[in-house]
Amino acid sequence: MKGQAVTAFGKPLAEITVELPALKGSEALVRVTGCGVCHSDVHIHDGKFDMGKDAPAVELPVQLLPLIMGHEIEGVVEALGPDAAKQNPKVKVGDRVAVFPWIGCHACPACARGEQHLCANNRGLGTRIHGGYADYCHVPVAEALIPCGNLPPGAGGVAMCSGLTGYSAFRKLDGIEKGAAILLVGLGGVGLSGLAAAVALHDGPIIAADVSEGARKAALERGATEAVDPSDPKALEALVARGDVAGAIDFVGAPATLGFAIGAIRRGGKVFVVGLYGGAIPLPIPSLPFKAMVLGGSYVGSLDEARDLMAYMREGKIAPPMMRERPLAEANDALNDLRGGKVVGRMVLTP
Ligand SMILES: [Zn+2]
Ligand SMILES: [Zn+2]
Repeated sequence: MKGQAVTAFGKPLAEITVELPALKGSEALVRVTGCGVCHSDVHIHDGKFDMGKDAPAVELPVQLLPLIMGHEIEGVVEALGPDAAKQNPKVKVGDRVAVFPWIGCHACPACARGEQHLCANNRGLGTRIHGGYADYCHVPVAEALIPCGNLPPGAGGVAMCSGLTGYSAFRKLDGIEKGAAILLVGLGGVGLSGLAAAVALHDGPIIAADVSEGARKAALERGATEAVDPSDPKALEALVARGDVAGAIDFVGAPATLGFAIGAIRRGGKVFVVGLYGGAIPLPIPSLPFKAMVLGGSYVGSLDEARDLMAYMREGKIAPPMMRERPLAEANDALNDLRGGKVVGRMVLTP
């Protein structure tokens, strides 16, 4: 297979050719038809994840290189290993599939409990092993293949990252009573996918908070019941006064956004952080018991959640994001555009 690879952190991607192994066990080979370009690809390309001003950056090991990037992979099943049908009877050669990229080691307790996205020895496609900026993708386990049905091209691939992250965060608010309000802070790409899940599945007011007027407008157009500007001090007051905000998701992960979410939540409510903006907040410890508050984090999502999300999307209940195709050969330009903040919606590279 041929792919666009990081050969040195921060240097332009280069085309490399990798010998395709003969398929063993439940392995699968997918002919890539599209691969989304994600903001985390910019960080992988740079070789480090910024954790904010108060914490050291997470450096990626140089031993990973050369690495074909791309974890938002969609394609057609080209071949299946001898045990693939046993592991995943739902797909056969020729099917259009999305590829769940957050593949674990399949040997640790996290993988055994169905949380391979949290596996410490994960084999993430495009993050640890070769991914989808390529003509073909070698997938270690056939269970990672999820049927796309008639979704528009690229939608399944993109669903595996921003879509899944938003969906899984929303699911962490399960158990909130009918009619209670939920608050979504930060309506960028992931926030809008969380909103799409909430609009489909939450029975109650959905409040969007964003300092950008454009983002508030986009949220209202996509089904938020109201939109507030968190930089307006009256906004928090009004949310506290209504007293029914039972769940909040911070899609930014900055001190101001998390402070807003915690401030707005009612007693006994749940707050989850998804965004990785960075920083720290002073949190008086007694406020946790006093508010009987759950404060947690959410990181991408599980294979089961990815399957559920794809089922909702195939049924038309959860809408796919806005996408734009670009040739794979333009991978470098695509990354630079994303780095420069010039991209609206998701870019999907096509080989
Ligand atoms: Zn991504
Ligand atoms: Zn594992």
